[in-house]
Amino acid sequence: ERLNYIDFIHHIVDRFELNISEDITIERKIPEKNYKVWVDKDKITQVLDNIISNAIKYSPEGGEILIEVSEQNHQLLTKVTDEGVGIPEENLEKIFERFYRVDKARSRKLGGTGLGLAIAKELIEAHDGEVWANSIENQGTTITFRLPLMQQKRGGRA
Ligand code: ATP
Ligand code: MG
Repeated sequence: ERLNYIDFIHHIVDRFELNISEDITIERKIPEKNYKVWVDKDKITQVLDNIISNAIKYSPEGGEILIEVSEQNHQLLTKVTDEGVGIPEENLEKIFERFYRVDKARSRKLGGTGLGLAIAKELIEAHDGEVWANSIENQGTTITFRLPLMQQKRGGRA
């Protein structure tokens, strides 16, 4: 379905802010633009739910999470950055594999199956998008995904 992405993402972040129990703040850098995407709303909700709950799960007390939306070459980029434990460079690709979890002991304590990001990757790719991770250990992680923007009827640039 056709979705106003900015309204959609504010709605999702609002829901997280209402339900968050940890001492974590969520910042937004979301432009007031009319970005339209053609997506399955439930599936992209599932993607964001997983990425944002990971960010919360792996954040320290008092941590900040930044949610950014921007446009780049007719693509819409969404970035979720946390100040958490991070992911070692050599594992950055593997976190998108089924059942893969960095440091089993650490992750077991925090719960989960290791499916969240594998599903997110599948769903984003089914939308002709792409998802990837950047991270510095003990400093934080950024998960970014891109989705194609719907061509606007007006707004002139070729
Ligand atoms: P599930 O999502 O199925 O409940 P999960 O959160 O462990 O379980 P994924 O969401 O697929 O699984 O993430 C895979 C692994 O990647 C995690 O177990 C964790 O080790 C690592 N990871 C994911 N996001 C972050 C993050 N923001 N910071 C640090 N590590 C992360
Ligand atoms: Mg997860």
